[in-house]
This record gives sequence, structure tokens and C-alpha cells, in this order.
Amino acid sequence: MLSDAQRAALKSVLGKSIEFDVPLAPKTSMKVGGPAAAYAEIGGVVNLTAALSQCEQLSVPWSIIGFGSNLLVPDEGYPGLVVRLVGDFTKVTIKGTKVRAGAATPIVSLCREAALAGLAGAEGLVGIPGTIGGAVRMNAGTDVEIGDVIKRVEVLVAGEPLQTFTTPEFSYRRSSLDRRAVVTAAELELTPGDPATVQAELRKRIAKRNATQPLELPNSGSIFRNPPGDHAARLIDAAGCKGWHWGGAEVSDKHANFIVNRGGATCADVLALADRVRAAVKEKFGVELELEVHVLA
Ligand SMILES: Cc1cc2nc3c(=O)[nH]c(=O)nc-3n(C[C@H](O)[C@H](O)[C@H](O)COP(=O)(O)OP(=O)(O)OC[C@H]3O[C@@H](n4cnc5c(N)ncnc54)[C@H](O)[C@@H]3O)c2cc1C
Repeated sequence: MLSDAQRAALKSVLGKSIEFDVPLAPKTSMKVGGPAAAYAEIGGVVNLTAALSQCEQLSVPWSIIGFGSNLLVPDEGYPGLVVRLVGDFTKVTIKGTKVRAGAATPIVSLCREAALAGLAGAEGLVGIPGTIGGAVRMNAGTDVEIGDVIKRVEVLVAGEPLQTFTTPEFSYRRSSLDRRAVVTAAELELTPGDPATVQAELRKRIAKRNATQPLELPNSGSIFRNPPGDHAARLIDAAGCKGWHWGGAEVSDKHANFIVNRGGATCADVLALADRVRAAVKEKFGVELELEVHVLA
């Protein structure tokens, strides 16, 4: 883990905003996993730049998390600094059809603000329980992906002194962002729409999610990516895996591509169950499912 010298050097940069040996499970939607050796909530670009530079100089691993809604934390925890963006990174500004959202903005807030301003195009993102930064990294979406409406992204690359603009390439649940790039804000281009119509669409989509997803138990959304031309949920259901469990982890009866934490699950439980499901689908259909959820590393 971190040496005393590394702790002191990080503290000299981050002051009171750094804590050590912080449990990460409560900061994720699946609620599994161990502690971060160091954890900081950072509210501005100056401190973020300093923290990442310090990590690079000290060879301390670092990682960025949003709302942890697509993230599994290993049971042994994370050996370096975990950063969550707050403060300045939650601001949304709208000018005409352009929306600039800080990376820590909840996706739902962006959707609501756009609707109130009479802007359409982001409705497909509503109900995705993450931040804009996490959504850009994952190219989160449904029938509409965030990459479809992104104009450009502001990033800070660890070890570099200034933020830059980039327009990543997006593909299904992936972006071409460099691993060392932290999204600090995103600019979206939306289209004029009727506020009442857009709001009605948001309500309809949220109701559909409530009816089809096991939101009453901790989960990470879809565990597997959909294979080309098919749906992971259909394959898992047809392979008879619904209701399978391993330790505290269970394949949801409501949505087969969700693994839920029934209480006391570990990260190892979730991954072992995912392995069993993957093997069953491979055996029955010859299709190799790929994890959608990220494992913090
Ligand atoms: C109930 C439920 C429903 C879901 N439905 C959907 C859905 O319909 N569609 C969909 O696509 N996803 C869905 N998800 C998954 C998840 O909400 C999205 O992937 C979301 O975009 C993740 O955002 P986050 O802020 O929680 O990121 P995290 O889970 O915290 O992180 C995910 C990845 O993004 C990286 N990251 C986070 N912030 C930044 C940043 N600022 N800069 C660079 N990298 C960053 C992390 O390092 C990590 O690799 C669902 C999840 C749940 C729990």
C-alpha cells in the first residue's frame, strides 16, 4: 500500500480533502469491495492537476470514479488514490442548443435541465444512474448514446499542466479516451424541443426502467455487453441462469443481465457468478459474453 512518505506527499497537496483507508463499497451501486488506500473528493481543476501530477511523480496508482454505477471494487481494495469529482465539476450551463456539463453532473440532472430549457436529444440517457464523466468514458446510453450528442470533451491528462479539448471516438459502450485522461466536462449539442413533450418522454423512460430493472437491490446495471445482433439478457435467460446465486450475488429474476447483491456479497462472488453465467451461455449458444462492468484497477 502507500508508504508514509507517499501519504505525507499526497496530504501536502490535498490537505483536508484526502482520507486514507476509505471503504469504497458504499461509493458504488453494487456495494462490494474493499478500501482505497487514499480517497479524495476534488472540487476544482487546480487541485485535480496537482493531485494527479503528485501521483505520477510518486508512482502512486490513481483512478477516477463517478457514482460507481458501472464499477466493481476488488475485495482487496485499491492500492492508490481514488478521486471523485465534486464542486465546480457539477455545473451545467446552457447557451442556445449547447449544453456544457461538468463531469460530476448526475446524468439525470442534465436530462432534467435540458428538458426545462426545451432541448431534446438527451432523453435516452435518463435513468442511467451515473455522472457525465462516467457516461463519456463508457459511452453510456440506450437507443441514444451520449456519444451521439457530444460535441467535444474537456479532459485533463495526468502529469500535464493544462486541460485540453478532445472529440473521442465512440462505439458501443466504449470511448477512445486515453486511460490517463480525466473527463472534466462535456459539451453536448441538442435540438430545440417542446419542454412538456421532452419531460413526458423522460417520465415514460423512467417508468419503463422501474418496471423492468431490479432497482430495489444493489446492482451495477448490465453485467455483460450485448453481443452483436443479440441481447445478453435473452441469452442468459435462455441458458436457464435466472435465479442462480453464488455467495450473496444472484442473477436477477427481473432482468437476467443484472446481478444483484442480496446482502453480504463480495466482489469475488459477483465475478464468480458472472463466470458461471458466461460458461453456461458459451456452452449452450457458443457465444462469449464480455463484461460491461469495469473492475477498478
Ligand atoms: C440500475 C442501473 C442501470 C443502468 N443503466 C444503464 C443504461 O441504460 N445504459 C448504460 O450505458 N449504462 C447503464 N448503467 C451503467 C452506468 O450507470 C453507466 O455506465 C454510467 O455512465 C457510469 O457512470 P458513473 O459515474 O457511475 O461511473 P463509474 O461507474 O464510477 O465509473 C465507470 C468508469 O468510468 C470511469 N470514469 C468515471 N468518471 C470519469 C471521469 N470523470 N473521467 C474519466 N473516466 C471516468 C471510471 O474510472 C470507470 O472506469 C446502469 C447502472 C445501473 C446501476
